[in-house]
Amino acid sequence: MPETSYDCIVVGSGPGGYVAAIRAAQLGMKTAVIEKDRIGGRCLNYACIPAKAVLRSADVLQEIRDAGEFGIKVGAPEVDFGAVMERRDKVVKTLTGGVSGLLKKNSIEVVEGVGSLAGDGAVTVEGRTLRAKTIVLATGSVPRGIPGVALGGRVIGTEEAWALERLPQSLAVVGAGASGAEIASAYARLGVEVRLFEMLDRVLPTEDADISKAAERGLKKQGMSIYTSTRIANVESGDDRVTFSFGEESGSADWLVLATGRGPDVEALGLEVAGVELDERGLINVDGALRTSAAGVYAIGDLVPGPALAHKASDEGVIAVEDAAGRDTHPISYPDIPRATFCTPNVGSFGLTEAQAREQGYDVVVGKLQYGAVGAGTVYGDRSGIVKLVGERRYGELLGGHICGTRATDLIQELVNTKALEGGYPEVARVIHGHPTLSEAIMEAARAADGWLIHG
Ligand SMILES: Cc1cc2nc3c(=O)[nH]c(=O)nc-3n(C[C@H](O)[C@H](O)[C@H](O)COP(=O)(O)OP(=O)(O)OC[C@H]3O[C@@H](n4cnc5c(N)ncnc54)[C@H](O)[C@@H]3O)c2cc1C
Repeated sequence: MPETSYDCIVVGSGPGGYVAAIRAAQLGMKTAVIEKDRIGGRCLNYACIPAKAVLRSADVLQEIRDAGEFGIKVGAPEVDFGAVMERRDKVVKTLTGGVSGLLKKNSIEVVEGVGSLAGDGAVTVEGRTLRAKTIVLATGSVPRGIPGVALGGRVIGTEEAWALERLPQSLAVVGAGASGAEIASAYARLGVEVRLFEMLDRVLPTEDADISKAAERGLKKQGMSIYTSTRIANVESGDDRVTFSFGEESGSADWLVLATGRGPDVEALGLEVAGVELDERGLINVDGALRTSAAGVYAIGDLVPGPALAHKASDEGVIAVEDAAGRDTHPISYPDIPRATFCTPNVGSFGLTEAQAREQGYDVVVGKLQYGAVGAGTVYGDRSGIVKLVGERRYGELLGGHICGTRATDLIQELVNTKALEGGYPEVARVIHGHPTLSEAIMEAARAADGWLIHG
């Protein structure tokens, strides 16, 4: 009979849960992870990783199509969607296998089944009772329908959109946030007729307005139709098509993808039994160390407020178990968590948009630059990418960074690190950047904010 007493039990093995478990084990806690489905959570099995694997295939296709511009002649490329999905599966397997290996290496017991709190440090799973002084809830989130449109039949969520068996002829994507933009961008480039609908007045509506504009231009170039300020209605799912209306028009598609938001997966957790309280949005109430209202119970990741991002979940996992171990840990500055959208054009951002900074009463300074202003933009073939820095004039504080263009999702990290290390845009402007790199565009945008743009 396996032992049932631990120092730490983690429920859920996504990027929040598995990282929490490994950090707990590093701190000397005897740790178990309970998982009802697959190790690696939704992120690795159905969401972030499969999405990026398929997007990568679309990126390769696009590079081949653009090869002529670089003096390389190739015949018309052909999409073998079965092989795209096979590679996707292989990527997922490699990474989830890696996580299983890490759990094993750290002597973390994996318990299969649905975990539920039973109060007083107990968790039940498949008829067994496990006990621990510290319990970390990391069960993630599940997709939600929208008013009048339920998931089912030809109406699918984002996870299903990244797991289609056959390349569809047409897709209607509802919601032009990060997930919707990624799906639209991948499938449009793979040759699918895509319509992207957004209720608000711009794509990527939580990004800086300039970034939304640049992203919309780039997405349109991929041949999709974009409808902003548009609600879809009268959705009817048939055997092999879905019909819907939008404004005065009606349409149909092979699949309608709801990329409109998710809610915490708390149903099976027995939160009431343990006295874990929720906030008005149904997320678990936590303090800065991720402690819930129940002693010894922590909650992290998509279960708690803040952006629903894998790296946020992981960091919260570290904080929770370090706190449980009595260690000093670090606070999270939620606005400064890097945000990444892996569509083409790539979008990376952190901190405040220009509008938010102005609303908050800062004396705002903006530094903007197109990639074309630095050598790398032309060399690598993206002159239209943009970097926008939002700063505060008096002390040179970096309030936000916004990039739309090649490798934006990697490039944004420089600004996140600078801010975390208490640097401002005047420092970014004076740090030597390698040449010719796209990071020089960040340096020049910082110089623009500081009033001494060289290349422009
Ligand atoms: C399509 C898509 C693409 C995304 N792309 C990105 C991206 O590129 N970058 C990014 O940062 N974020 C991305 N996200 C968001 C990211 O997936 C989540 O923020 C992240 O998965 C949250 O991690 P988590 O550990 O909280 O939960 P999850 O990854 O959801 O893992 C939770 C785990 O808990 C298990 N579980 C649930 N209930 C129980 C129970 N009672 N008992 C036992 N096990 C249970 C589940 O089976 C699951 O395995 C994407 C999301 C979607 C939907």
